[in-house]
Amino acid sequence: MKIRNPRTGIYDYEIPDLSDEVVEHRCAALRMHQTEWKKSGVENRIGVLQEWKAAVMEKRGDLIEALSIDTGRAWETVLEADIVAASIDRWCGIARNFFSGEAKKDSSIPFIKLQQALVPFELIGVISPWNFPLLLSLIDTIPALLAGSSVIVKPSEVTPRFIEVINKTIDAVPRLSNVLSYIPGDGRVGTALVNNCDLICFTGSTATGQKVYDAASKRMIPVFLELGGKDPAIVLEGANLEYAADSIVWGSVANAGQSCLSIERVYVQDTIYDAFTQLLVKKAESFILNADNIHHGEIGPIIFEKQVAIINDHLRDAVEQGAEILTGSTKCEEINGGYYCRPTVVVNVTHNMKLMQEETFGPIIPVMPFETKEEAITLANGTVYGLSGAVFAATVEEAMEVGSRIDGGAISINDAALTAIMHEGEKNSFKLSGIGGTRMGPSAIKRFMRQKVFIIKEQPIVSPWTVARYRV
Ligand code: NAD
Repeated sequence: MKIRNPRTGIYDYEIPDLSDEVVEHRCAALRMHQTEWKKSGVENRIGVLQEWKAAVMEKRGDLIEALSIDTGRAWETVLEADIVAASIDRWCGIARNFFSGEAKKDSSIPFIKLQQALVPFELIGVISPWNFPLLLSLIDTIPALLAGSSVIVKPSEVTPRFIEVINKTIDAVPRLSNVLSYIPGDGRVGTALVNNCDLICFTGSTATGQKVYDAASKRMIPVFLELGGKDPAIVLEGANLEYAADSIVWGSVANAGQSCLSIERVYVQDTIYDAFTQLLVKKAESFILNADNIHHGEIGPIIFEKQVAIINDHLRDAVEQGAEILTGSTKCEEINGGYYCRPTVVVNVTHNMKLMQEETFGPIIPVMPFETKEEAITLANGTVYGLSGAVFAATVEEAMEVGSRIDGGAISINDAALTAIMHEGEKNSFKLSGIGGTRMGPSAIKRFMRQKVFIIKEQPIVSPWTVARYRV
């Protein structure tokens, strides 16, 4: 399978097309080592992950290089690589606390004691997207390994260059290579994972998530789906406008808008609408495309060619229905073979436009005025998505009151898109943005385990209900 370079448009890399049998064998091998991994105990697993962290740090340069080619961006890639070490450390701390409380407990019946146990699923399949290839391949993998599961990861076929490097870091830690493997491949390989694993963590589009959900239901295996979004930001009269504009523009255009948690709709109270829109335009215009120099400019190329068509279609549809572009692009520009989209502020938008309903995944900032809070909340909740959102107000209390009524699992208060960097809070996706337990925060590790209880009689005391039954 030939892979396109997002900066040049040239297909300059290849990945093998793994057969279903190869995937099946890889899964069987990882599964075979899981019992030993589980039995080795959490401290051993923490030790192995710390060794891996060192191996990743040793290959940090190669990893950044591969990811930079995959995504066409530089500084976000450095951030992505450096998050690995911090995530491993954070999860090791969480896992140590998590496994410390397995003592026997009294029950409400005096001669019966209870002891809880956790049984990890044997093999976890992780299927991840192209927008943050490394980060999103690891976000479930690290806690799953610490839980005591084996893990097989299939990153997106759009950004597979980093797989070779990450597999070298895994090979450097033999005890890890028995229980963790990254494989390249497209949707067919993803399907093979669903057919061979015991639990699937899927991050990607809602359309594919629905297919994964269907396939997993046939095998009755649990799935955690982290899907698309159309995150709203609400700006109320009284908010610090300069600061809110900075935060919203950043939340919309970071990573060229290619984040599930990007701000894709902005609702502004009518009394401040004109002033705020002007601020958005000024700030949006300060960003530079990195087309000529990957190290100069904040806006990288649109990574996936098919996404270019979606962004262009949303802009075209909006303009045809009366929207006005105040600054930015009417469509993505081709520069040196890559496609780039400038931060684009769009006004005169309505909720029947694709731009206000469907995930755009580009640095587009549509802005709409509202009169009352009630109206703002209705508009914010007016899509099929419910991932996250943002509220800016004069006080934290006012912002939280509005935020509490937004359909979404993570609401940034007086900032935008904070889940990008803050992974400690627990959250669920609402509506078509996903299903399943939180992937962030301490309880996320529990998703990889089934609960078991031992109901213990320590003495041969005859149970009163047994006697009662014999008497009848
Ligand atoms: P996608 O759904 O096209 O692909 C995601 C992954 O699924 C890829 O690895 C792909 O090969 C695999 N796949 C495709 N068909 C499959 C099938 N039938 N069975 C199993 N696997 C299959 O998504 P994408 O375009 O790579 O990523 C962008 C999407 O991801 C956006 O919608 C974005 O919002 C979403 N996303 C969500 C989150 C979140 O946390 N909610 C985070 C990042 C991205």
